[in-house]
Formats: sequence, C-alpha cells, structure tokens
Amino acid sequence: VSRKKQPKNTVIDLKGTCVGGDTQVIVAGPCSVESYDQLRTVAAALKQAGIKIMRGGAFKPRTSPYDFQGLGVEGLKMLKEVADEFGLITISEIVHPDHMELAEQYIDVIQIGARNMQNFELLKAAGEAKIPVLLKRGIAATLEEFVHAAEYIVVKGNTKVMLIERGIRTYEKWTRNTLDISAVPLLKQETHLPVMVDISHSTGRKDILLPCAKAALAAGADGLMVEVHPDPQTALSDAAQQLDIPQFEQLWSGILNSGLFH
Ligand code: PEP
Ligand code: MN
Repeated sequence: VSRKKQPKNTVIDLKGTCVGGDTQVIVAGPCSVESYDQLRTVAAALKQAGIKIMRGGAFKPRTSPYDFQGLGVEGLKMLKEVADEFGLITISEIVHPDHMELAEQYIDVIQIGARNMQNFELLKAAGEAKIPVLLKRGIAATLEEFVHAAEYIVVKGNTKVMLIERGIRTYEKWTRNTLDISAVPLLKQETHLPVMVDISHSTGRKDILLPCAKAALAAGADGLMVEVHPDPQTALSDAAQQLDIPQFEQLWSGILNSGLFH
C-alpha cells in the first residue's frame, strides 16, 4: 500500500460514490442496528440530507459480554432492506472470517473494527472478499502496524481498502480516545489508500464534533464517520456519543458551510 509503489491514489467506487478521489464523503448511522424502524428512521434522514453512505453495526464487539451484542445476520438483512429502499451504500463490521460471504450478500463495505485490526485470519479473509474493506486503526496501534494490517488484506488480492483513524488510547480522559490528527497526512503521504476519520469514536463526545471534523478535512481526510441515532438516550451502545437527527443536521450544515468539504 506504499505510495512509493503506487504514486496514484486508490479511488474506491461505491455504487458511483467515490472515496479517495477529489471529493470527500460522510459515513453516518447508528452505532448498532437495533430495529428495522430505528434504522429506517436514520436512513430517511440521511437520504433527506443527501448522505450516501450509512453505517450500522450488526456484530458488535463489546467490552462486556453482558452488553448488547448486536442483531447479527438479522441486522445485516435490515441494512440491505433499508439501503435498497433509500438507495444507500452500507458499511457494517464483520468479526468472523467465515462471515465474508454473508457480507457480500447483504452489505457494500466490510468494516474491520479497532479491536480486530490485528486479527490476521480475519484480515486474510477480508483480503479474499469481493467487496471493499474499511479498516479501523487499532486502539493502541502505531501507524506502522496499521499500514501492515492493510497490507494483509491487499496482499490477498483485495485492493479496495480504506483506512480510518478512530482515536488511540492515551492518558487523556476528557475524550474517549485521542484523535491523532497527524495520522491523516502521514497515512496520505505513506500510502495510496483513502483515509477517513471517525469523529465519534475518537472523541466519544457530541460537543466537539464540528471542530474535529474541520481539522480532519483540513488535514486531508477523504471522509468522516459519525454516529447518528433517532433517540441516543435509549441507544443500546455508545449512547453518550451518538447524535440525534437534528444534531446531525446541524453538524452537516456546519461542515458544508466550513468551506473545507469538497
Ligand atoms: C464501530 O464503529 O461501531 C466500532 C465498534 O468502532 P471501533 O472498532 O473503532 O471501536
Ligand atoms: Mn459505536
């Protein structure tokens, strides 16, 4: 994935929406797919706002085994049904190497989560998948390790890999993780892959998303990810950081008015 090997940017075409080219993208949606109605409500709002890519976790890697683990295959089916209705592109996390075909059947992009960035068997399986992969930076991964994880996917034949900085663990407690903004220009410099920034998981907050989004865009990010839920207070995961729909619309207009989004 070195830029020395391939000077030209990798541009990934998701049903006509390109990532890594001249335009930037927003990926929005709930942390977890919780129900058909919940997902459909978010999808309708995204469609209305002109957002093309929807995220939603079906297989949730949770810190505690007692927490909501996701709807699994049922969640993937809901993503497909709702995406088909609204003409959206979907991203969802896959946590098992045997689930790649399921992903190909129901979603458009396989997300590999931070906790699985060095799950090498999963990376190899994603490398054999026919759809693009969004690879999240590990919670304590160096950029070198992150790039090598991407290499695991590409070396198996799947060249459609996008990187996403989602914050790293530091001693700072005012944010859930520390957004490493320098990762953006460094990854853009060292690799030819699209680089995105997850402003929700990197901050764990709702009140500083616009400045963080601006910083990411100014640093050269190809896209942003943000969590949106119809009623964040009742969310089954990441309740503290998810925006409700009006908050998302406000953020989106702030991004559009910033002059940094193209
Ligand atoms: C997610 O995007 O839903 C998620 C679990 O994020 P991360 O893997 O970055 O913690
Ligand atoms: Mn989440």
